[in-house]
Amino acid sequence: MLRIYNTATRHKEEFKPLEPGLVKMYSCGPTVYDFPHIGNLRTFLFSDLLVRVLERRGYEVHNVMNITDVDDKTINGAQREGVSLSEYTRKYTEYFMEDLDTLRIKPAWEYPRATDHIEQMLNVVKTLIEKGHAYEHEGSVYFDISSYPNYGKLSGVVPEKHHSRQFGRLDNDEYEREDVRDFVLWKAAKEGEPSWDSPWGPGRPGWHIECTAMSIEYLGATLDIHLGGVDLIFPHHENEIAQSEATTGQEFVRYWVHPEHLIVEGEKMSKSRGNFYTLRDLVEQGYDPIAVRHLLMSAHYRRQLNFTREGLEQSEQALSRLWDFVDRVREVPNGADGEDVSEQVDRALTKFDAALDDDVNIPGAMAAVFELVRDVNPLLAEGRLGANGASRVLEFMESADEVLGIIEHEKGSLDEEIDALIEERQKAREAGDYARADEIRDKLLEQGIVIEDTPQGPRWRRE
Ligand code: AMP
Ligand code: ZN
Repeated sequence: MLRIYNTATRHKEEFKPLEPGLVKMYSCGPTVYDFPHIGNLRTFLFSDLLVRVLERRGYEVHNVMNITDVDDKTINGAQREGVSLSEYTRKYTEYFMEDLDTLRIKPAWEYPRATDHIEQMLNVVKTLIEKGHAYEHEGSVYFDISSYPNYGKLSGVVPEKHHSRQFGRLDNDEYEREDVRDFVLWKAAKEGEPSWDSPWGPGRPGWHIECTAMSIEYLGATLDIHLGGVDLIFPHHENEIAQSEATTGQEFVRYWVHPEHLIVEGEKMSKSRGNFYTLRDLVEQGYDPIAVRHLLMSAHYRRQLNFTREGLEQSEQALSRLWDFVDRVREVPNGADGEDVSEQVDRALTKFDAALDDDVNIPGAMAAVFELVRDVNPLLAEGRLGANGASRVLEFMESADEVLGIIEHEKGSLDEEIDALIEERQKAREAGDYARADEIRDKLLEQGIVIEDTPQGPRWRRE
């Protein structure tokens, strides 16, 4: 039985979708104004891992991820580069998709873009006005939070009386908990900004309304799961609930799932703090993207994960051990006799699934895989793993990898990396940079790779 922690109730709950067999899921997607940083990618990766776990439990999953392609940041970026908004956001949407692919994140069921759904957003805003939940003011439209008694139920904010419509409105999309006010659904056009026609004059949508409009469009009034980073609980998700439930009169979300942040030296990784890495930075520096994937999965999703280079190097070493193991199991000859490993494999499988069922504990599931490596390695080393045992081990690895996505690898891809490092060391030596050369030698040594300098050039072997 799969249990998931629900932010709305602050409890782990048994997961049951409304419609048997089908999970309707919505994940807040990227704002396409720049490359995603690996903090964003941690959240998107978790969304994919959750889909994979649900699929392993036999569900069909309709996972919708929106693309925010109109907001202050995208508009500013396009103006800075002197290109149209759509040209600008198309480029960053492509980069986003490339990063997902590099990290082996499976595509969502649908990726609706905000600018393709202006009409649906206008319809929601009109309905909200008709039902007395929203009002126009100088060409903009605001949600009247005093009209919605449940406002604050997800995040725990308490709107005060003096924050009602006579006293204040907010035009920005992001704000602090102390600033709870009537928030903007539709913004009157500003000079030089892209705009669309509306009953209140030209304007553009606020940020929160797109998720309400597009989740209704693709999934209906009620979602089984809604996911987004913890920073979205307030105001974004609080506002989504108000908009959606006031519009449809039905429950908006049954399970709220909020992955924690990736941090760097104790601080949230973010563009505004300037302490961020993109996937491309790390790949350019020679790290294997699957090691980045492994690192991003290495803490439970409800815990913060501190990003360090040492952590990334440990992930590379862990993968190197795992891939080496799988390669050697594959080399066990057909028909070879050996010991029965059913008990070890069954134990790994039980642990693996128990971890997934316990609030999608991916690190726990990975530990089950590495335990099997540890259990079977001595047999391999002594030639006691037979063909039957090998095929049971490989069968488990394949099935585990449908969730984890870290085991499949091209044989020799690590060797290529080692070759590249050795070449870099050679260049460093030629340039007289012996410190760097030694650093590379030590790094390889840590992975059990020994370099020997021969008259024909450097050679390496595994110890
Ligand atoms: P954005 O493109 O800024 O709208 O963010 C996309 C997703 O990344 C949202 O679900 C955010 O909550 C999430 N996010 C932002 N910063 C971090 C971080 N440092 N670690 C993990 N997720 C993050
Ligand atoms: Zn959203």
